[in-house]
Amino acid sequence: MGANGRPRELDLRLAGYIVKNLVQGQRRFPLVTILEPLEACNLACPGCGRVREYRHIWDKKLSVEEAVGAVEESGAPVVSIAGGEPLLHPQIDRIVAELVKRKYFVYLCTNGLLLKQSLKKFKPSEHLAFVVHLDGMEENHDRSVGRKGVFRIAFSALEAALKAGFRVTTNTTIYKGSDVADLHRLFRVLTDMGVEGLMVSPGYAYEMASEQDRFLEREESIKVFRRIIDPGKKFRFYNNPLYLEFLRGERDYECAAWGTPTYTPLGWRKPCYILADEHVRSIEDLLKEGLWEHYGPGKDPRCSNCMMHSGFEPASILHALRHPRELWAMLRGVRIYQKGNGLPRRRVSSGSEGQSR
Ligand code: SF4
Repeated sequence: MGANGRPRELDLRLAGYIVKNLVQGQRRFPLVTILEPLEACNLACPGCGRVREYRHIWDKKLSVEEAVGAVEESGAPVVSIAGGEPLLHPQIDRIVAELVKRKYFVYLCTNGLLLKQSLKKFKPSEHLAFVVHLDGMEENHDRSVGRKGVFRIAFSALEAALKAGFRVTTNTTIYKGSDVADLHRLFRVLTDMGVEGLMVSPGYAYEMASEQDRFLEREESIKVFRRIIDPGKKFRFYNNPLYLEFLRGERDYECAAWGTPTYTPLGWRKPCYILADEHVRSIEDLLKEGLWEHYGPGKDPRCSNCMMHSGFEPASILHALRHPRELWAMLRGVRIYQKGNGLPRRRVSSGSEGQSR
């Protein structure tokens, strides 16, 4: 493992892949493929748009060949398997095995309800990590997902996965009214247990989400994240330090959601993980010159409050590549803001303007 808690090979592969694309003159290319092999879920969280948006295709599932084909078409070395609840897919173990065999780094996102009983279907590997969704300690998490008892099941599965030798990370969505002290308790417990890292992201106000008043506006998000991402607490956050600074309002990036294309049973979401104005068959449609003139804060009103990692973490990575000190800090997992970088809040170009793939 590297100093940042991730497998060293992952950082090397990602860095090599990005440099290769830049040398080839590609300024817009996927960094992480988000694969949604099905959209059915065993929860119906009030903050989730997916579960309602895709209600009509809950019976559709990607075959193993379709799933692997989409990942290969994208070419990104990292794959985040989401949904829906991926562990409901009857062939999820085969999809994961085929991707691991091809040396992709797979992050399987789960609400944890089926994780413990599914562990026997997977083999621990540097190329596989489970990402367990936890929005707080027991009371707050159960409220967030709309069902009592979910925290206990998910937490116990997380412990079992760690004990069985799997890499485990967590994912926490921040909403209006999130209890910062409770989140710090959760992060302390998880860090002390030895999870590989804690991912955080603000919730996005999906039109289809059932409780619209729980989403934060941009300035509110920044205020909350300044408290949540407290450098003094030494939590093991997994998002890169530049994105964490963005969440704290210390940087501003243009959206680079083309870095995280999302494949579903209906095809690639266009333009991004959050918005699906249409679904397209070819990933090239997401990388075309001109498309990104229409999306991002200041361009589309639906983007104005978005600070999602799917849009802004790729931008921060590409920015770091042009700034060696920041790249070095990012690879080591050093939180630049701990030292007070003195940087003014500013918009940083993702370097994609006017370039085709
Ligand atoms: S700003 Fe957010 S919603 Fe808008 S295109 Fe980027 S990722 Fe999608």
